[in-house]
Amino acid sequence: MPLVHDLKLTAMRVLEKAPDAIGSVSSVRTAEPVIIPTFDDGPTPGRTPEVLRALADHDATATFFVLMTSVRANRGLLEEVVAAGHEIGLHGMDHRHLPTLSRAEAREMLTRGKAELEDALGMPVLWFRPPHGDQSVETWRLIREAGMTSVIWSGTSHDWNPEATQDQRVEKATANLERGTILLFHDGHAGPADLGDPVPEPVLDRYELLDRVLRVAEERGLQATSLSRALERGTAVTRPHFNLHPRHLATAIRRR
Ligand SMILES: [Zn+2]
Repeated sequence: MPLVHDLKLTAMRVLEKAPDAIGSVSSVRTAEPVIIPTFDDGPTPGRTPEVLRALADHDATATFFVLMTSVRANRGLLEEVVAAGHEIGLHGMDHRHLPTLSRAEAREMLTRGKAELEDALGMPVLWFRPPHGDQSVETWRLIREAGMTSVIWSGTSHDWNPEATQDQRVEKATANLERGTILLFHDGHAGPADLGDPVPEPVLDRYELLDRVLRVAEERGLQATSLSRALERGTAVTRPHFNLHPRHLATAIRRR
């Protein structure tokens, strides 16, 4: 399977070039006219296929941060994502807030999640996106120790926000779109089975949202690609990203 081999070589090159700064990758500094769409919480039926269709219609690739709870339930969909030329990163064994776990539990989440995903893919997993974007210095270090780099974003589509209209989502996603922007989307919704917070899933047309955002990008001469592809000719911009929702702060402190 030449595609998998190709992706593996790319992954190894990026790993060699990975910066050691204390920070999470938030965008890519590049002379290439590219943006990097990223999709969290999948793969899931209904949502992932719509996203794949929009990406294919724009001849675009992207990076998917998968949950092992979703992967186990939808192994065929993971294969479809890979076969379409997209890159896979890890979002977690499940959707718990890492800083609320004990050090041992958090390490287990990262190392077992990475091993299980690499087993399913047959290639290295380089990138980790913290669930909820929640990260402490300790969990950032554990991500590094597990052999992954933490990746956040520099733009969001607000597809997680039930209050936003589709027009507002397109506007927010494209307002500051520029070379190297890492854009946050979702192709899943972390529910009780993923140990996610009980938040309602917005009702939205994911194909339409992505199609509109990619049209705007193309009008600006920007093409969508995966993070590793963008880094072949660019460098990672990292910034400190240490964040925990106040609701979970007390738990995190108690567990230390
Ligand atoms: Zn998530």
